[in-house]
Amino acid sequence: MRILVTNDDGVDAPGIDVLRKIAAGLSDDVWVVAPDSDCSGAGHSITLKNPLRARKVSDRVYAVRGTPTDCVILGVREILRDKRPDLVLSGVNRGQNIAHDVTYSGTVACAMEASLLGIRAIALSLAADTIGPGDFKWDTALHHGAPLVKELVEKEWPTDVLVNVNFPDRDVDDVLGVKVTRQGLRHRDQWDIDARADGNGFPYYWMRYRLQETEPLEGSDSWAVANGYISVTPLSLDLTNGHWHDNFALELDKDVQANMRRVV
Ligand code: MN
Repeated sequence: MRILVTNDDGVDAPGIDVLRKIAAGLSDDVWVVAPDSDCSGAGHSITLKNPLRARKVSDRVYAVRGTPTDCVILGVREILRDKRPDLVLSGVNRGQNIAHDVTYSGTVACAMEASLLGIRAIALSLAADTIGPGDFKWDTALHHGAPLVKELVEKEWPTDVLVNVNFPDRDVDDVLGVKVTRQGLRHRDQWDIDARADGNGFPYYWMRYRLQETEPLEGSDSWAVANGYISVTPLSLDLTNGHWHDNFALELDKDVQANMRRVV
């Protein structure tokens, strides 16, 4: 089995070492293609207006000056063009990717891109009570991630589903187990703008993420991680809202057709 390991925290991040160790337990054909710097928050962006540069860091390890998604595309289409990977592992991210985080996350976007390329993928993230400097419990991700990824890989699931794993911010022995969850909801107003002035008096801004205490819905990814469980959420790229699809189909189609008849 060929495995492509990537992330959004950059090729030097501690979490990617954890993931390489997890991958090494599954295969001896493990490749790393990851951004050359921290691209957290890059979402599913791609580089179209600039060239991509890839630097070989060591045997089977490449650093790309590009987005996390660029790394997956370049990895699959160019660096590993002789044989496609069978699995893409992304992470382990420094900070959780739960609820609406998944739409900002470069870590999850790598798994989304793999899915679009027809490759099974797992995104892994480690929760913490900070996104600033702080202690991250990498041992928890390594200890519990290795058997979990092995178990997931042995299961059958289609490539249009990607798996989003989040580890709780707990020591190895304090993790209560694994919960299969749904994507949760995040408080709507989570950003502060820190407005400052530069040396010449011109304004500039820092976007600041405000961690909020919310009541997560039981069975959601946020709930699992907050309660000491490892969250496993199957995601898909179909963002259609089923309820409103049906509602619009009933009402809107009728109105639009009535209007079209009037125009004709
Ligand atoms: Mn990140």
